[in-house]
Amino acid sequence: MMAQYLALKEEAGDCLLFYRMGDFFELFFEDAKIASSVLDIALTARGEHDGEKIPMCGVPVHAMEAYLARLIKAGHRVAIANQIETPEEAKKRAGSKALVARAIVRVVTAGTLTEEALLDSRAANWCVAIGEASGGVAIACADISTGRFEVIETDPARLGAELARLNPAETIACEATDFAEFATTLRPRIDFDSSGGEARLKRLFGVVTLDGFGQFSRAGLAAAGGLVAYLEHTAKGALPFLRPPRVSRAEAAMAIDAATRDSLELTISSAGTRKGSLLDAVDRTVTGAGARLLGADIAAPLMDRGAIEARLDLVQHFHDDSGLRDGVRATLRALPDIGRALGRLAAGRGSPRDLGQLRDGLDGAWRLGERLGRIAEAPALLRDLAPQLRGHGALIDLLTRALVPEPPVDASHGGYVAEGYDAALDDLRDAGAGGRRAIAALEGAFRAKTGISALKIRHNGVLGYHIEVPARAADALMQPDSGFTHRQTLAGVVRFNAPELHEVAVKVTQAGAHALAAEAAHLEDLSGQALTHREAIAATADALARIDVAAGLAERAAEGGWARPMLVDHSCFEVEGGRHPVVEAAVARAGGRFVANDCRLSESSRLWLVTGPNMGGKSTFLRQNALIAVLAQAGSYVPAGNATLGLVDRLFSRVGASDNLARGRSTFMVEMVETAAILAQATPRSFVILDEVGRGTSTYDGLAIAWAVVEAIHEENRCRCLFATHYHELTRLAERCDALSLHHVRAREWKGDLVLLHEVAEGPADRSYGIAVARLAGMSPATVKRAKAVLDKLEAGRAKTGGLAAGLDDLPLFAAAAIHAEEAAVDIVRQELDMLDVDALSPREALDILYRLKGLA
Ligand code: ADP
Repeated sequence: MMAQYLALKEEAGDCLLFYRMGDFFELFFEDAKIASSVLDIALTARGEHDGEKIPMCGVPVHAMEAYLARLIKAGHRVAIANQIETPEEAKKRAGSKALVARAIVRVVTAGTLTEEALLDSRAANWCVAIGEASGGVAIACADISTGRFEVIETDPARLGAELARLNPAETIACEATDFAEFATTLRPRIDFDSSGGEARLKRLFGVVTLDGFGQFSRAGLAAAGGLVAYLEHTAKGALPFLRPPRVSRAEAAMAIDAATRDSLELTISSAGTRKGSLLDAVDRTVTGAGARLLGADIAAPLMDRGAIEARLDLVQHFHDDSGLRDGVRATLRALPDIGRALGRLAAGRGSPRDLGQLRDGLDGAWRLGERLGRIAEAPALLRDLAPQLRGHGALIDLLTRALVPEPPVDASHGGYVAEGYDAALDDLRDAGAGGRRAIAALEGAFRAKTGISALKIRHNGVLGYHIEVPARAADALMQPDSGFTHRQTLAGVVRFNAPELHEVAVKVTQAGAHALAAEAAHLEDLSGQALTHREAIAATADALARIDVAAGLAERAAEGGWARPMLVDHSCFEVEGGRHPVVEAAVARAGGRFVANDCRLSESSRLWLVTGPNMGGKSTFLRQNALIAVLAQAGSYVPAGNATLGLVDRLFSRVGASDNLARGRSTFMVEMVETAAILAQATPRSFVILDEVGRGTSTYDGLAIAWAVVEAIHEENRCRCLFATHYHELTRLAERCDALSLHHVRAREWKGDLVLLHEVAEGPADRSYGIAVARLAGMSPATVKRAKAVLDKLEAGRAKTGGLAAGLDDLPLFAAAAIHAEEAAVDIVRQELDMLDVDALSPREALDILYRLKGLA
């Protein structure tokens, strides 16, 4: 056995090996130690190997899913070695001492789960592969719980942002490439060969050309091939459930890098949970598939105005008709997750309940399709979706006839095929039931015959049907001519058999076994029939999800009084009465009222500098506008009275270092790296929010950096930007940058107390109120008084010298400054060249001069 175990363990590689022994999966050696500590189960020992006791632990087969879930969550992967023959077969094959043959039947990893219990119903479970070829990069991603399969053509610069958007459960890359750093799993180079990938895809989908799926680059083929090879590896050769791939380009979505996603808490809050995120604040979907699609929409706001308007039309349709919306949502709420039920069936792990879910889900979809199809003047998207809901009449009929109303998850006890579906099965069941009635009658007959009123007929797995009497009454039955045969004596009871009972019992048992076999055959046949329609069923599931998202967004908009955004071609950003959905909910929970604020950016007024006291609402204001851009382009109404927006191609959000301590790197360094990325990437169609950038260092450095960044954004990037700062001195920039305007969050001191109004107003803040905020925060009166005295002194000094920014007035603007610097360098080089006598130089001298000139430029 150990030899067999070690061979399998070798094959399992870095996976924990679940080794099936009877009703348990056992783990040995290191695996046992890891599993016992992660799972908190007892570590025992068994036998010896090389003179040492072998550590061992085990999990019961019936409870395997829960244990698997915990191991996968803890970052492990598990190879499952099952028995692939029965002990009887093993004996027949190799004699009485034979070891049952075992093989790894599946590798379970975070990206290849299909079990309902192991998956979050409201999140997609992406397994992602990165491929490269001829200089291009592509990502292939699959959610095998629903069969979704996408190929995204991107480029190296955008790869990180795309991965952040997908938030994969598992990332695969080719070993020994630059992309290995992104990967959780490395696979051999041969899997990522683009021609091999093409062949693999053709084989998987049974096609001779991939043209029907879209245009793949070589990198796309490499990524898709690598992914399919990995999925085949984990399924041990069984083909994974994948729908035909959809090819898209990363540019089709608003670019949002990882730092911006984190800072805006789009789908995950800073605490790492869905709660507290924008997604959570917006989500009113009622199905798991709807929640998954909404998450994908918010993670990838669109760039195509037509597609956004189509989504908005559908949301508006549900928004304006609350009766329809309520009806649709009530129907959807009752529907099972057909996408995932289909995924389990396709993976060969389907249960009778999954078929029941398909039946109920498709039936509900049909009814919904009827209702939505009747709507006159339906928006275009709805006209496309409604027919996809009604297409499975024959399958629904079949499953309705074939299955009981609530089929069980566990098929092994049968009882899921409905009466009347198969006459032969009904006969077997009748025979079984008749037999059971005959057995009940026998019990009465035996009691009468023996005069033992406590006599019972019982059934268990070992003896089958048998007669049981109390020990004190057993003597009479022990007599050789009693007609009973003794089987077993236990404390208090004695068990017997009798020929009449045996005869009926055999019939019952045989009928039961035949009935079970007949049901199993039906299960296979029904699954097969359902799977022939899998592409159409998956399309129905998609349509339901899209409708759920639209109805949910409509519900959210109606609930919060949100507005349909108007999208325009020029680069403006006009929001009236904007709100931050997450902060608003938090303020409301605390019994407060959120103050709505306007934001008006246009080509001639692109940059707002927002000053004001800490806690005054600057960050909230910045973020709410970024979130409004995300929501609008995801096809949602927005939390505002009114909004007119020009499409945003790239969105950036950065927060000054001291708010970011949790990240643990040199935070100022991070801040600067991230800010540099914005300056390098933002275009005139981008939207940038910068919150207290520069404060991670000393005042002078910080002010200088903030100043230069604002100038660069104003002069070079020319994007829409909101910049919050507590450097008052920056307000001087308004005199030189014509598209920059000053704003502040209002505050008032009232009877010595600071009142934060959370209202954004025009002009610079008159003062910073830092000391008032300190008092608000509970600093002792003595300290506050002392701080005030120090401040008075500092302010008196500033008045005399002109303040921190004194002397900045004669500094040329950023672009001019950059040109000056360049020109000056050119001048020096020119001078040096003029003075050279080239003919008189030795090669060595010429080289030295070249190095020096290079240093000057
Ligand atoms: P700042 O960036 O100026 O330090 P924040 O934006 O972090 O301030 O806001 C601080 C707190 O003030 C928030 O947590 C919230 O409770 C409250 N707040 C912010 N904006 C508003 C608003 N518009 N209406 C009501 N309360 C707000």
